[in-house]
Amino acid sequence: MANNCLSLVVHGGAGAKRGRDYSREIAHMREVVETGRDRLRAGALALDVAEEATAALEASGLYVAGRGSSPNTDGRYELDACLMDGHTGRAGSVAALQGFESPVGVARAIMDWTPHVMLAGEGAARFAAAQGLAAIAEDAAWFTHAGLDESNHPPGTLAHGTVGCVVRDAEGRLAAATSTGGVFGKLPGRVGDTPLIGSGGWADRGVAISCTGQGEYFMRVVAAAQLAHRMRFGGQGLAEAADAVLAEIRALGGEGGLIAVDAAGNIAMPFVSAGMKRAALLPSGDIVSEAF
Ligand code: ASP
Repeated sequence: MANNCLSLVVHGGAGAKRGRDYSREIAHMREVVETGRDRLRAGALALDVAEEATAALEASGLYVAGRGSSPNTDGRYELDACLMDGHTGRAGSVAALQGFESPVGVARAIMDWTPHVMLAGEGAARFAAAQGLAAIAEDAAWFTHAGLDESNHPPGTLAHGTVGCVVRDAEGRLAAATSTGGVFGKLPGRVGDTPLIGSGGWADRGVAISCTGQGEYFMRVVAAAQLAHRMRFGGQGLAEAADAVLAEIRALGGEGGLIAVDAAGNIAMPFVSAGMKRAALLPSGDIVSEAF
């Protein structure tokens, strides 16, 4: 594979259900990949493209992240996100954020403008406000999921959705970003795997990963870092490591999937769930976009 190979994968969550029509999401994810590909061709950094693609997925309202997030049992929207730059090892993360349009943008600002990696809750919101990041005036008018939707997502079932992106840029830098509204009907204060560096996302110089699924399981196997460490210390290849991590999730009784890209530009997007909305720029230059 050529050294300057560009790789870009996005996901719209592993909560896809058989029998539903995801044609809007499939078309949208393709557009997001096309935009990211053009940015990479113009020399953009992997980290910037991962953040931009994730922000576009958040803003669409089509996925359970950003504008499409579902509320907790108090009817409040508490959002999680993280991003990581594999080239520098820097990371930013936000948990249980209320009142701001782009959690991944807040995570990026935490990485860029504080000495910290992660802020949560009220402190995160105060920081985002001080940075002048776009605030939500009124939840009910902005979010596309107005209620808990208990008919489709019974409480306690950990029904879920998330968005994320992994990128290899022309210089071989890797980055990952992930953003979520969490699981449907979650308790107030519940935080999943998504903002936990190493559980829901990870990037180093060998691989970048964004996970999606029942976060309670991904946290317990430290899914993203485990995958990276299987490659780095265990000598496994990308596909083998990804499948092994998902096998652990499944053995615990969980479901989900992940997207990943390695230093050579190889991609993996396996899932152990009914489906996973995803789109990828292939080494051939073609783009695939699918849900099952
Ligand atoms: N992992 C996310 C969470 O548990 C949900 C998802 O990926 O669908 O918050």
